[in-house]
Amino acid sequence: MLGLMMREPLLISSILDHAARFHGATEIVSRTLEGPIHRYGYAEARSRAKRLAKALAGLGVNTGDRVATLAWNGYRHYELYFGVSGMGAICHAINPRLFPGQIAYIANHAEDSVIFVDADFVPLLESIAGELTSVRAVVVMTDDAHMPETSLPAVHCYETLVSAEDDDYEWPLLDEETASSMCYSSGTTGNPKGVLYTHRSTVLHALATAAPDLMSLSARDSVMPAVPMFHVNAWGLPYSATLVGAKLVMPGRKLDGASLCELVDAEKISLSAGVPTVWLGVLDHLERNGGGLDSLQRCVIGGSATPRAMSVALEEKYGVQVLHAWGMTEMSPIGTVNTAKNGMEDETREARYDRQVKQGRPCFGVDMKIVDDDNRDLEWDDAAFGELKVRGHWVCSSYFKGEGDSHDADGWFATGDVSTIDADGYMQVTDRSKDVIKSGGEWISSIDLENIAIGHPDIFEAAVIGIAHPKWDERPLLVVVRNEGSSVSSAELLGYFEGKVAKWWIPDDVVFVDDLPHTATGKLLKMELRETFSGYELPTTAGAGESG
Ligand code: AMP
Repeated sequence: MLGLMMREPLLISSILDHAARFHGATEIVSRTLEGPIHRYGYAEARSRAKRLAKALAGLGVNTGDRVATLAWNGYRHYELYFGVSGMGAICHAINPRLFPGQIAYIANHAEDSVIFVDADFVPLLESIAGELTSVRAVVVMTDDAHMPETSLPAVHCYETLVSAEDDDYEWPLLDEETASSMCYSSGTTGNPKGVLYTHRSTVLHALATAAPDLMSLSARDSVMPAVPMFHVNAWGLPYSATLVGAKLVMPGRKLDGASLCELVDAEKISLSAGVPTVWLGVLDHLERNGGGLDSLQRCVIGGSATPRAMSVALEEKYGVQVLHAWGMTEMSPIGTVNTAKNGMEDETREARYDRQVKQGRPCFGVDMKIVDDDNRDLEWDDAAFGELKVRGHWVCSSYFKGEGDSHDADGWFATGDVSTIDADGYMQVTDRSKDVIKSGGEWISSIDLENIAIGHPDIFEAAVIGIAHPKWDERPLLVVVRNEGSSVSSAELLGYFEGKVAKWWIPDDVVFVDDLPHTATGKLLKMELRETFSGYELPTTAGAGESG
């Protein structure tokens, strides 16, 4: 017998409708490229998203068409998230920090029909315009007064388009499985692959991640995504903050410590989210200039492992609860968040920070397991590690145009991360499978070593890579950026590892550099480091071959 409840499709437009009706005056605040801070409420945001939807139709955009963005976090980008998906088209945020050739590849692969671009990315778009095969029109996200000179053909001005329409528009009642947005995975190997989200997966992800054990979002929060909207939809925050009616603060292109601290103060931010590099910048700014993060209660840190020292500093110096999160483009992106469970009330300080180094546990909606090379389940004993596999309501079922092959016959998605899981279900990423260091037939976790190095007071950033070794196959090399003015030596740094890891895990050497290479999403670019140091001779190499 079927139940007798209403069947309302889970649609992105319904999130904004709810916020406009019940939180109409709650603000979306944006730091604009033009300069001033822009403010309006959810009611006006909806009105403009509807006018945008009409303008899109006027540009010939149909259901299922891909509409791309090259833009920072701001209110116009927010309107595109809702206006494009709401009308049944697909919002495709492209990462402008990628190499231009990769941007052209992605836009062509996605067959983007229109590109919306922030004024400062116009030169970037001009540089690849000749390579774009499907783009019919470009819309610069500014007003008439700030339209840049450009050689691009078929250029429109955002404000001119939106102001020419009214908001007398009904969102179409779409099937909730309709594609709503897409992102390309970072593509560390081969070409980037497209992940195509649905309205249903997006709404379920927003509902789940807003819950207390994940981000604990509410209508009393002031939320600042310090993760760009072109990086897995700013971890879903534009949707989840809207869903609960939180105040939403968009930091624009300025993600440096000083600019973020200024917004935290001015807009009384209670929750923010960003990759560790962003928080390094915030902590560095506060160390140099003093000040605090008075209103900030929680910060979500993910995309790369959150070092223990970062959790300690944020919690103990600035009173901010760290929510260590793990996820992937393929997972919308949240897979796990590290929050305590029943029975952990009496955890010691040390035990709590030990737990927080782990990436966390999934909420309902995501399942996970670790497997060995023969795809057999491994124990959840905090020791056995193997490839992490996931499945769930907001995990991709395949890539756009059927590319790649990361799915099992039984539907699990292979993440490419190597992890342990403890008896309480907390997962810890040991490495990307390609970054793990194989020494003497055993594995060394580069992430663990980086965490320790970062804990040294003189170290700003650290990376550990495997260097070919005649005896051990590979041995770890520590590459570090020292804090300004520090002259800490290799010997001091290596001594710092003693007692913290097994002796054979301690890196064989240290190299000091001015900066480390990062991917377009702020992760350490280990592939480039491995290339840079491919011929590096470790001090332990000499004679090792002969001694066997
Ligand atoms: P992306 O799809 O660009 O978000 O990259 C996803 C990958 O980032 C994951 O497969 C992990 O390797 C890595 N990652 C994300 N969050 C974390 C985290 N908290 N700790 C360690 N690695 C992470």
